[in-house]
Amino acid sequence: MAAPGPALCLFDVDGTLTAPRQKITKEMDDFLQKLRQKIKIGVVGGSDFEKVQEQLGNDEYSKSSG
Ligand SMILES: [Mg+2]
Repeated sequence: MAAPGPALCLFDVDGTLTAPRQKITKEMDDFLQKLRQKIKIGVVGGSDFEKVQEQLGNDEYSKSSG
């Protein structure tokens, strides 16, 4: 069954994309860069945005809250 429309892929940060509070590995970053060419992705976490940027890189992500 095909998805009904555009999808958004959300990932947890600590313990999923990275080890807790650590920087993303090159392997995982490469995977996300490939994935984001195919589908919209986002990250969800309990850390403040500055910490997430430190872990994932400064220029790849923008903040959304609410
Ligand atoms: Mg987690």
